[in-house]
Order: sequence, then structure tokens, then C-alpha cells
Amino acid sequence: MTKEVASTGESTKTNRVRRAVVQQLESLARAGVTHLPKGKSSKARKISPPEAAQSEAASLALAGRPAKSVAAPPPVAEPTIVQPAAKPAGNDSLQIVAAEVAACTCCPELASTRTQTVPGVGNPRPRLVFLGEAPGADEDRKGEPFVGRAGVLLTQIIENGMGLKRSDVFIVNILKCRPPSNRAPLPEEATNCRGFLDRQLALLKPEFICCLGAVAAQNLLASERTIGKMRGEFFEYRGSRVMCTYHPAYLLRNPAAKKDTWADIQMLMEAMGLKQA
Ligand code: SF4
Repeated sequence: MTKEVASTGESTKTNRVRRAVVQQLESLARAGVTHLPKGKSSKARKISPPEAAQSEAASLALAGRPAKSVAAPPPVAEPTIVQPAAKPAGNDSLQIVAAEVAACTCCPELASTRTQTVPGVGNPRPRLVFLGEAPGADEDRKGEPFVGRAGVLLTQIIENGMGLKRSDVFIVNILKCRPPSNRAPLPEEATNCRGFLDRQLALLKPEFICCLGAVAAQNLLASERTIGKMRGEFFEYRGSRVMCTYHPAYLLRNPAAKKDTWADIQMLMEAMGLKQA
């Protein structure tokens, strides 16, 4: 490798690091973090061991580069499970979780392809949490869950159907980062992100959780049942009553299923003591 090539490589790497830092700071600002602690800022980074090595290795694997020359790198093709800390030592908060999410690189592929993280949004004291699958392109761009076409439909369900405001509920996903090309979350990714979700639910303490789609329902309830077989009944998860229905994106593709979701929402409203709008 000539000096010039090495220099270009360094420059590219520097730009990549600079872009990642800017994205992270922007995500922290959106999460309400206005100050960063001095000296111990590595706390959030502890959740992801050998990140740099994993990220670099994953980048090479994604680029399809042959594993030659560099002295015998360890095999990294399989995604690894690197669960974030289940709970911080001190008092937890939604802002702390969002800040740790913004810094998280547990899933190297997602961390290297996301525009920003999407930790969740809404009422910090909600009766109801909507749980989806993962951010899509619109959510990745805006940093907020359910803001695309499916999000418009969800907002209509909440506001026109249930008579609530979108800001009355909290909306969150199983994954906080967009899978490339909107592929389904890998089991390892869902496992990696689970600590964040459980901390959010522990802070939110919702009476009700509405799982939107099979990925949300199966992951939250550790079930392999289809969404069609999970509809129509309540489950229990850590003190919350859980109801499952179709994902709004599915309803956009299959409008005939809207009547089933409306039946589910009516069941939920009855349990919540809400009158039809
Ligand atoms: S999906 Fe969750 S665990 Fe994976 S990198 Fe994003 S925040 Fe971290």
C-alpha cells in the first residue's frame, strides 16, 4: 500500500467517524440530552464490547471483501448477541435509555447503516403503549416511530377510532434501528435490543400494550403463534395487559383485514373503559 492510498483510507475513516459522532450528538439532542458527562462518558459504550473490531469486521463482510492478507481475522459472519446493560446503576429514565440507544452499536450492520436511532416517542405516563417491529425509511430519517404511511393509519386508529390523541400514548418498536431494505429483524438483533425495551416498559408502566404485527407479538410474548392466532385475547407481560393485532403496514396491503383490527381495537377500548369516538 502506498502512502497516498494509506492517506486516503485514513481520510475516509476519519470522515466516517466524524459522521457517526455528528449523528450520535444529533440523536442525543433529540432525546433531550443537553449535557454530556465529563470523563465517564464511556459508560454507555460499555454495553458493546469490542465494538470497533465488530463494526470493522462487519463492514468488511458486508462489502464482500475476501478474507485474505490481513493476519487471520476471527470469523465474524454470524451476528452476535451483545445485550445492552439490563439496568444502569443509578436512577433510570427514558432520556438515559434514549441516550444509550443513540450510542449503541450492538448490531454492527444496523449501527453502520442507520441514519439515526429511533428510541420511541409519546406520553411518559401512558395507559397504553403501541409496540411495533422496527423503524422504516421515514422513521430512520425523522427519528420517530410510525411517521410514514403506516404511521398515518396508526394515528387514525388512535385519534379517529379510539378518541385519544397520539400524544396520549407511547409508541415504540422492538428494534431501535432500521434494518437495511426493511428486512425483518434478526433474532439476534431483537435479543440485543430487548434490554432497552424492557427498561422503557418498566419506566412507562403501561396498563395496556398493543402489539402491532407478528414480530412485536412473538418477541414480546416469546411465542411462535401466528398473529392471527394471538388476536382476540389478552396476555400478561410484567403487569401490563397485552393485546395483539395486525401491523398497520399489513392493513395497507390487505384492507380487508381492517375490520379484524377494528374488532381488536374495540376489545381494547372496552377493557380500557373508553367509549367509541
Ligand atoms: S437495534 Fe438496538 S441493540 Fe441493535 S444497534 Fe440498534 S439500538 Fe443497539
